[in-house]
Amino acid sequence: MLRDDPTLSGARAVTAVAPAKINLHLAVGRARADGFHELVTVYRAVDLWEEVTVAVSDDDELTVSGPDATQVPTDRSNLAARAVDLLREEAGARERLAVHIHKGVPVAGGMAGGSADAAAALVATDRLLGLGLGRAELEERAARLGSDIPFCVRGGTALGTGRGEELATLLHARAEQHIVVATIAGGLSTPAVYAELDRLREQRAAEGRDLPRVGSADPLIRALAGDDPRAVAPRLGNDLQAAALSLLPALRRTLRAGEEAGALRAMVSGSGPTCLFFCADHDSALAVATEVSELGVARELRITRGPVSGAHIPDTPTRK
Ligand code: C5P
Repeated sequence: MLRDDPTLSGARAVTAVAPAKINLHLAVGRARADGFHELVTVYRAVDLWEEVTVAVSDDDELTVSGPDATQVPTDRSNLAARAVDLLREEAGARERLAVHIHKGVPVAGGMAGGSADAAAALVATDRLLGLGLGRAELEERAARLGSDIPFCVRGGTALGTGRGEELATLLHARAEQHIVVATIAGGLSTPAVYAELDRLREQRAAEGRDLPRVGSADPLIRALAGDDPRAVAPRLGNDLQAAALSLLPALRRTLRAGEEAGALRAMVSGSGPTCLFFCADHDSALAVATEVSELGVARELRITRGPVSGAHIPDTPTRK
């Protein structure tokens, strides 16, 4: 039995981390029969991390710490718990596994914090149970759990198609970005934002007009191969932004504040409501965050950068 063979793992607890994602380009197509929408997206992993510890324990408890921890479900519907259950079942292991999540990514903010939990939980459980799954095998398990989870495993910058789970790494997309992340009080439900986009498109079509769409990702992908954030900024786009603004009109003020403070571009992150201010460099990001913080249009402002790596087991503890 795997669980009885200490040479396979030896560890009684493993901690892994996984990054938040942003979508530099998010083109949303039609709703499929399974309810998911066809996507073409450019994912980028950014320097905000979820940390997940999986430990052999007396029971399958799940605990959460960090900002907004109380908003995170602690039953088996939690994506990290589902990831642990999937691999444990596959391994035929019978250990009780306790999971602890430390949140570093805004909750329900459109930055895939829950997906990052699942990605980190897959990596930690794989090591703890000595499964030795490769990255491709982990990504395959990840895709069964959610659309953004394979990317949180992979990290870097990647083109996502299908419902977002089919990935092609964009090796040349090296342009670094400095981004202010503005979190907003309250969250938006991802399914509700997709449904609102469908509703807005139908409404516009009935009026004989079309809701603008972000178009092809090619100009952005070309710009990302250079090193000029000013060339990247005008090519960023998110089809879900109109729907997020429709559900939460106050986001307009937040976006405007970011651009007026000197960001090259302000955009809703994924399904929102977190807003991203793309800046020319770190100093500019600091100045933008400082100015916006005085306006009361964001609950919290953080500065981050990307791209960063995907889910992994850190060499050294990430927190004290
Ligand atoms: O895959 P995930 O569980 O993250 O998706 C959450 C929800 O977001 C789905 O239930 C669906 O309503 C919506 N979604 C979608 N099309 C996608 C990805 C997500 O409609 N490609």
